[in-house]
Amino acid sequence: HSKDRGRNIYHFYTEQMNHDMNRRLKIEEQLRNALKLGELEVYFQPVIEIRTRKIVGAEALLRWKNSILGQVSPDEFIPIAEQTSLIVSIGEYVIENAFSAAQKWQQTYNLQFKIAINVSPKQFRENNFVEVLNIKLEQYQIHPTSVELEITEGVLLSGDDIIETNLRSIHDIGVNIAMDDFGTGYSSLSYLRSYPFDTLKVDKSFVNDITVDPADLELVGAAVAMGHALNLTVVAEGIETEEQYHLLNELNCDYGQGYLFSKPLPQKEFEQLLAEQNFL
Ligand code: C2E
Ligand code: MG
Ligand code: MG
Ligand code: MG
Repeated sequence: HSKDRGRNIYHFYTEQMNHDMNRRLKIEEQLRNALKLGELEVYFQPVIEIRTRKIVGAEALLRWKNSILGQVSPDEFIPIAEQTSLIVSIGEYVIENAFSAAQKWQQTYNLQFKIAINVSPKQFRENNFVEVLNIKLEQYQIHPTSVELEITEGVLLSGDDIIETNLRSIHDIGVNIAMDDFGTGYSSLSYLRSYPFDTLKVDKSFVNDITVDPADLELVGAAVAMGHALNLTVVAEGIETEEQYHLLNELNCDYGQGYLFSKPLPQKEFEQLLAEQNFL
């Protein structure tokens, strides 16, 4: 009996693993041509000032629609892009599209606007990352202080010298650096002290339950207070209800993002949103 069970368990795991591996390989295979085929599109989600509810910026978020796999979530394809180095060219594509949009908003509407871009560990560790960033800033005439790069602590885990060098040179030219998904990792606190961060983004998993779970409300309050003590701007992710918004306002959280204000939108629709809100 135990032998049978053993075999079944073994069988179960191999099948699951096989399934995962196949999916992974399919994604990798399709992702190789995604840029060439124009399947990747940069969406924009507004960032609002909590106190005034005004749009003060946007986060660039990648979307991928493939002919075979359909819509694939960045939570699924970004880690694969990261493991295969495809992230380097994909990351440059995101920077270009985000900068090109920001240039248009800046020049056409004379906006003081912050554009936030997610940067993954491998992309950040590239020797020429800072050089590429500088070239693109120049090319699109973007002021460095209107750019924020979002990194997770995964970027910092390796402890490589290149990470610190890149962070400092980016920060020195005026580009802001945000700690994304704050609270989900291991030792974010010490990283916040030792690296030149400007912004702390509280993960949406904490924001989610602040209206029902007093412990989460305490945690978000503590994160805001700690961020402010470290002279950081605090952004809450995943605000979906007025109740959550109200509590975050009481906690003095600086900025917020979430479906309550808007989902990430294609550039055209994002521009319509700006127009509707008399922002332009
Ligand atoms: P993230 O950077 O933490 O982005 C926030 C995620 O929360 C986005 O998911 C956004 O659509 C979602 N979100 C925003 N407001 C709400 C809300 O009110 N409720 C809920 N449930 N979700 C909300 P998305 O766009 O699926 O991206 C997932 C992750 O994929 C991002 O998390 C980021 O880590 C990564 N990612 C997306 N685009 C890029 C990119 O261009 N480069 C890199 N390196 N990573 C990216
Ligand atoms: Mg982000
Ligand atoms: Mg996040
Ligand atoms: Mg995330």
